[in-house]
Amino acid sequence: MSSPTGPAQQPAEAPEKDTLRVLLSDQVLAVLKQIKRARSQLLVCFMTLPLYVMAVAGLVGNGQDISVLMLAYMALYAGFGINLSVKRCPRCHQQFFVKQYFLNPFPRKCAHCGLHCHHVGGAAM
Ligand SMILES: [Zn+2]
Repeated sequence: MSSPTGPAQQPAEAPEKDTLRVLLSDQVLAVLKQIKRARSQLLVCFMTLPLYVMAVAGLVGNGQDISVLMLAYMALYAGFGINLSVKRCPRCHQQFFVKQYFLNPFPRKCAHCGLHCHHVGGAAM
């Protein structure tokens, strides 16, 4: 019944992907940049966990005190985590990475409205 080459059957409008993009103001882009930076800080701290474990194992192996290193790492982790959890979405003004009670830094979009923190050329995805 339907032929794939029929020009009258194809939609004349642009693809849906372009209609989903919304131009963002400079203020919104600045907030998204802060959110992206805070997320990167926590993820870098998370990825250095093996280095921390190796340092603790080395210090324990030498019989040295690890309390300073532990406190410093926990303080750094807590600081980055709190900094990320208090970030508010510029669109819906909810916590960007907290849906209910727990911080989830892995998604790159708002937990409530889906605004992407990695924008392309000033357009939200
Ligand atoms: Zn949002």
